[in-house]
Amino acid sequence: MARILLVEDDQRIRQLVADGLAGHGHDVISAAAAMDGLNELVASAPDLVVLDLGLPDLEGTELLKMMRAVSAVPVVVATARSEDSDVIAVLDAGADDYIVKPFSVAQLAARIRAVLRRSGDEQGTETIVIGALEIDAPAREVRLGGAVLDLSPKEFDLLRYLAEHQGEVVSKRDLLAEVWRQPYGGSDKTVDVHLSWLRRKLGESASDPRFLRTVFGVGVKLVEPES
Ligand code: CA
Repeated sequence: MARILLVEDDQRIRQLVADGLAGHGHDVISAAAAMDGLNELVASAPDLVVLDLGLPDLEGTELLKMMRAVSAVPVVVATARSEDSDVIAVLDAGADDYIVKPFSVAQLAARIRAVLRRSGDEQGTETIVIGALEIDAPAREVRLGGAVLDLSPKEFDLLRYLAEHQGEVVSKRDLLAEVWRQPYGGSDKTVDVHLSWLRRKLGESASDPRFLRTVFGVGVKLVEPES
């Protein structure tokens, strides 16, 4: 649950989105115009902003720049425009993600979760220790028996996600959504290939597993090896 500032001039959409996000357990503050949104940002210090680009008093992109000048709050832009140049402009102006109208509240809620998780991650969490394996999240470094492993960024993210869910079976679908940010697409093959690379770097294989246990037809879990 988060405090969310919704800046949207269309009364019908504003109501729909505000009610929907409240239904997802969020505390929603809304503003119908850009300057009201900026005032609310300062007054209520939300955890995240959902920003409509087409506002009556100011272009959403301009408002985003003004927000960035006073706050590092994560911003998800909601836009009716799907042209590449608009998307690039808002991301360049400091948006963390965007969603194209029309969208479902469930999809927006999923984007919000992902953005909040990412922004939380960037603040750095602690080191996770599982047997001889140490996953140092702030340093993005993994050590096995004290020796630093040479992992790609994706292998690191995958290992960290599994470590955060130590002992739980995580499905490939969840890994695609959480590690690859592909909740509605992506191929299991991507996960399989990265798992096999990760296994090799951890000094194990699918037939002789230690940390990474495949649960056939369900997913994979990270466990502390027995010996
Ligand atoms: Ca609008």
